[in-house]
This record gives sequence, C-alpha cells and structure tokens, in this order.
Amino acid sequence: MISVDSEMCTGCGSCVDICPADAIELIDEKAVVNEDECQLCGSCEAECEAGAITIKSDKKSKDGVDLSEYQGVWVVTEQRRGCMPPVVYQLLGKGRELADALNVSLSAVVIGYRMRSEVKSLAGYGADTVYYVDHPDCACYNDELYAHILSGIINKYKPEIVLSGATAIGRSLIPAVATRLETGLTADCTRLEIDSETRLLLQTRPAYGGHIMATIVCPDHRPQMATVRPNVMQKPEVNQDARCEIVEIGFDPDSCLTRTNTVEQVSQDDGEGSLLSDADVVVAGGRGLKSKENFALIRGLAGLLSGAVAASRPAVDSEWIPYRHQIGQTGKTICPKLYIACGISGAVQHLVGMESADVIVAINKDRTAPIFEVATFGIKGDLFEILPALIKRLKELR
Ligand SMILES: Cc1cc2nc3c(=O)[nH]c(=O)nc-3n(C[C@H](O)[C@H](O)[C@H](O)COP(=O)(O)OP(=O)(O)OC[C@H]3O[C@@H](n4cnc5c(N)ncnc54)[C@H](O)[C@@H]3O)c2cc1C
Repeated sequence: MISVDSEMCTGCGSCVDICPADAIELIDEKAVVNEDECQLCGSCEAECEAGAITIKSDKKSKDGVDLSEYQGVWVVTEQRRGCMPPVVYQLLGKGRELADALNVSLSAVVIGYRMRSEVKSLAGYGADTVYYVDHPDCACYNDELYAHILSGIINKYKPEIVLSGATAIGRSLIPAVATRLETGLTADCTRLEIDSETRLLLQTRPAYGGHIMATIVCPDHRPQMATVRPNVMQKPEVNQDARCEIVEIGFDPDSCLTRTNTVEQVSQDDGEGSLLSDADVVVAGGRGLKSKENFALIRGLAGLLSGAVAASRPAVDSEWIPYRHQIGQTGKTICPKLYIACGISGAVQHLVGMESADVIVAINKDRTAPIFEVATFGIKGDLFEILPALIKRLKELR
C-alpha cells in the first residue's frame, strides 16, 4: 500500500516526474496517488526528499495475491529416455545468477522415472534442491499429466520464478501450467535479469519480427514464468563436490485422467544436421550459394571440420536444404565454438540464432554486409573461390 503524508508533502512534484506509471498528480499542491495505476515500484518513495511517501510492504498484488508467500527460483527440467538436453544446464546456470541476485535458493523439478543419478548431478550445476517425481507413468512426456503434476508442486511450494526451455516440451507444458496457475508467461526469452529495485524478473525477448527487444514484467501474479531459447545462455562449470537436497514428490495416477497415452517414443532420422544444436563447429550457407547443388561445398567443409551444416531462411525457402537446418528467429538458436557463415548477409533475424557463437567467420563478397559487424574474422571475397581453396588446404593438412 502507498500513502502520502500531506503535511510533509512540499508539493515539489519530483514524484510526479519520476513515476513510470503516471500514477501521481499534484492536487492543491499535494501529491495524490492513483492506486489503480500505481505499480508500487518505489521510485517515488526513493525520490521524495521530504520523506512524505511510504510504501507498506504487505506485498499484495492488485488481485490480493500475497506475493511475499512466493520465494525461490525454479528450473523445470525435461528429459527424453532419461536424458536431459543442454538447455536444462544452461537454465540452471542462469537460475543460479537470478537466485543469488535475490538471495534465495535455486531448485530444479524433475518428472520422470528412474533418474536418480541425473537428479543428483543437478547439484553440480547449481541446484540447492531438486523436487523429484519418480513414477513409471512419468517416463514419457505427457501434456496433461505433466501439467497436472507441475502445477500441483508449484501451488504447494510457491516459487517466485519458474523457468523452462523454449523447446517442443517447454512450449507445450509451460503455457498449460501458467493457465492453470492464472499467472503470466513470457515465451522465448533471450535475456533474463533481476530489477534490483523491484526484485521483479525482467524478461527480454524479440518482438515485432525481431525489430525491437521487448522487456516484460509480471508484477501482480506469481510465479513469474518464462521459457528460454536453447543456447542463448551459457552452461555453467560443473562443481563435482556440490550436493543438493532431494525432495521426493509422491504421485497417484488416479489423481489425473489423461486423454492421451504415449505408446512409444521414436527418434526422427535426422541424417545430417541432427546434432546441429550441440555441434561445436557449424558451417552455414545462405542465398549467396545460389543453388541446392552448391551446398556440397558447405557439406564438404563441415565434414572436414567434423561440424554440422546450417542455413539461412532463403536457402530453406528455396528448398536447397530442409527446415531443420535453419538458423535464426524462425529457426534454431545455436551457440557453437565456431560458426562459418558463407554467402549470408547477416540480417537481424539470422543473427539472433547464432551471434552468441564463440568465433564467427564470415565469407561474403560485399564488404558492407552486416555479418562483418558481428564476425570475429571476415573474409571479403567470392565463396566459390574461397571454399574450394579452404577445403583443399584442410585436406592437405590431414
Ligand atoms: C519474421 C521474419 C523471420 C525471419 N526469420 C529468419 C530466420 O530464422 N533465419 C534467417 O536466416 N532469416 C530469417 N528471416 C529472413 C531475413 O530477414 C533475411 O532475409 C535472411 O536472413 C537473408 O538470408 P541470406 O543472408 O542468406 O540472403 P541475402 O540477404 O540475400 O544475402 C546473401 C549474401 O550473400 C552474399 N553473396 C552473394 N554471392 C556471393 C558469393 N559468390 N560469394 C560470397 N558472398 C556472396 C551477398 O553479398 C549477400 O550478403 C526472417 C525474416 C522475417 C521477416
């Protein structure tokens, strides 16, 4: 609750100027707060030199939710056949940073079957506690079942922040859980930070076709939920000596009737590029390659470097290469050690998918191409001369 002591208020108007919600006006030279608009951000309280403004920290949201009941940062893990993808560890690294900024604990949630060693290993990536649901019915991902279990655990333990990968599973599960909990969700985040004044999670993601970066907050509901693109955050160093508390959560299959049943999990035969998300070296081709056949150059270089093959959207749209190889806003986000961009101009929609690569090499005949602005090494020239020369030299070195 916010209050203004009218005797102390000098009518200087500094609170009116600082209020980001335009919730304060001067009436008869005294500050008056519109409580419907006020977001209790505290800027006016900090600004008021007369000390006339006070915010009582009952931390209730506009809907009467007691925000102070919610504490801690959670990472919802995912698994296929008991294996967790890299995004789980990347999120634990970011979750640790957020938890430290808030001075709260970091927890992970594991729903699966016979995953005790994976559960224990999460301590090494920063988890203080792991909530573990171990049941044969949970071995394979199931929307209804997992949403039922996860929302039950969140309702019981009340974390203030819940993170998950923006993967096929995360994109399906987390919106269902956010809807059940009647809270907000920011999908596909590329940056997460804590606002030191309000302790809110600042959730940043591309908007309007990647033309702007929007930062979204969830001030009135809990938990604050976000899905995060794989490979935009760094996996932390493992601490082999770290230990965590494991809280076993019981599950009664009769408590949830599901309409679907997973009969068998089969992996798609991806052929080349199936390891794109995990590859250390990625060689990518764009419209500059001019034809499907010329992708042989990209495959040749990738093969010599034990790397994966990727592409820009026009190369995919032209059916030179399947969609699963596309990098960028509407494709995959990757974070390899080396990314070699051949005949790719460097449009912002492409860059969001690869700019966190450790080393970027760009080959382009146009010296003004934007890819050179993010490139560690730029080669200005014709890729039809450079790639064969590079391939020849690498073969000689073998
Ligand atoms: C909503 C939306 C989402 C999008 N999502 C994606 C996405 O996920 N991924 C993506 O990639 N794009 C995406 N795009 C498209 C994006 O805006 C660009 O159009 C696209 O990235 C350009 O691809 P390119 O660099 O291959 O082609 P171009 O921009 O046409 O660049 C080709 C480059 O090749 C160079 N070149 C030509 N010939 C040679 C040669 N012989 N030797 C060396 N260099 C040569 C040229 O100088 C040029 O720089 C999206 C667009 C929108 C609007």
